Amino acid sequence: MNKNKKDKEFYSVDVGDSTFTVLKRYQNLRPIGSGAQGIVCSAYDQTLDRNVAIKKLSRPFQNQTHAKRAYRELVLMKYVNHKNIIGLLNVFSPQKSLEEFQDVYLVMELMDANLCQVIQMELDHERLSYLLYQMLCGIKHLHSAGIIHRDLKPSNIVVKSDCTLKILDFGLARTAATGLLMTPYVVTRYYRAPEVILGMGYQANDIDQWNKVIEQLGTPSQDFLMKLNQSVRTYVENRPRYAGYTFEKLFPDVLFPADSDHNKLKASQARDLLSKMLVIDASKRISVDEALQHPYINVWYDPAEVEAPPPKIPDKHLDEREHTVEEWKDLIYKEVTEWEEWTKNGVIKGQPPPLAQVQQ
Ligand code: AMP
Repeated sequence: MNKNKKDKEFYSVDVGDSTFTVLKRYQNLRPIGSGAQGIVCSAYDQTLDRNVAIKKLSRPFQNQTHAKRAYRELVLMKYVNHKNIIGLLNVFSPQKSLEEFQDVYLVMELMDANLCQVIQMELDHERLSYLLYQMLCGIKHLHSAGIIHRDLKPSNIVVKSDCTLKILDFGLARTAATGLLMTPYVVTRYYRAPEVILGMGYQANDIDQWNKVIEQLGTPSQDFLMKLNQSVRTYVENRPRYAGYTFEKLFPDVLFPADSDHNKLKASQARDLLSKMLVIDASKRISVDEALQHPYINVWYDPAEVEAPPPKIPDKHLDEREHTVEEWKDLIYKEVTEWEEWTKNGVIKGQPPPLAQVQQ
């Protein structure tokens, strides 16, 4: 693109401590959240005549961790298309060449709140089960492409006031899990799965986390211990022994709406599902497919949502990639310019063309 022309398409606006330099079609920027990678704003998109969310990734290639995360997020968001996964509407960089390249802006569908805010509210079983159903549909879709999110937590799940839900963020996603213990990467502590905690190499924090799990659920059985490698097993065996609590104690009726017989039935179904999900041994834990069939959830079952064809991710080595900062810069820049080419060629505005066309 002609450099002067590109200059004219952008304007800058201060948002908190940061400056957003965005296409003029995006107006009324307001900060709505921030995460590990940067600030997120809401904006009005004059071209699509709708509100959107814009996330700024500042110098995403600045180090290996940032770069890998940004590249994964960009690639996965481009190809994953499911109603319970946040959709990408546009990608742009205000810089005009690889040499000047600094920032990437991701434009997404705008949602109303994240789950941290929603879990403060008193929700009925209809809403609770519908939110859970949608999370499971989104997770199943990711799993169908071999993608494991690894960072699912309330701030990564966003909802609209009509109770629709989408999963955000693919940064820590990793294609295919192997073995019992997953690589320990950064997963927010409180939501770590037991196998992730045990994979951490147990520093003080993780001991605390593991203790919390066994205090509630009880010391795991001998056959679980036998599946652990020697050093992890020694650690687990040397923890204090706990009997754990029943799920009636952990999740009593008062925690659920239980004012009618219908609600009492739903509360016991919810408790049953929790007792199958909160299982230390991952091989005995309910699977996503089984959870979708559970009576608390299956009232919402719609094959079009649950059994959507798996996304085709062209980069099969997304996770194994190791590059220098300069190579990452080049790779990320290529992803951004490829998107700009797609949209310039007049496919649906702001939407990627069908895969078949891209792969020609
Ligand atoms: P992230 O950097 O992607 O982790 O996002 C940080 C926070 O910004 C999230 O916890 C949400 O509160 C908010 N956020 C991110 N993306 C969106 C979106 N598409 N719609 C509404 N809020 C969002």
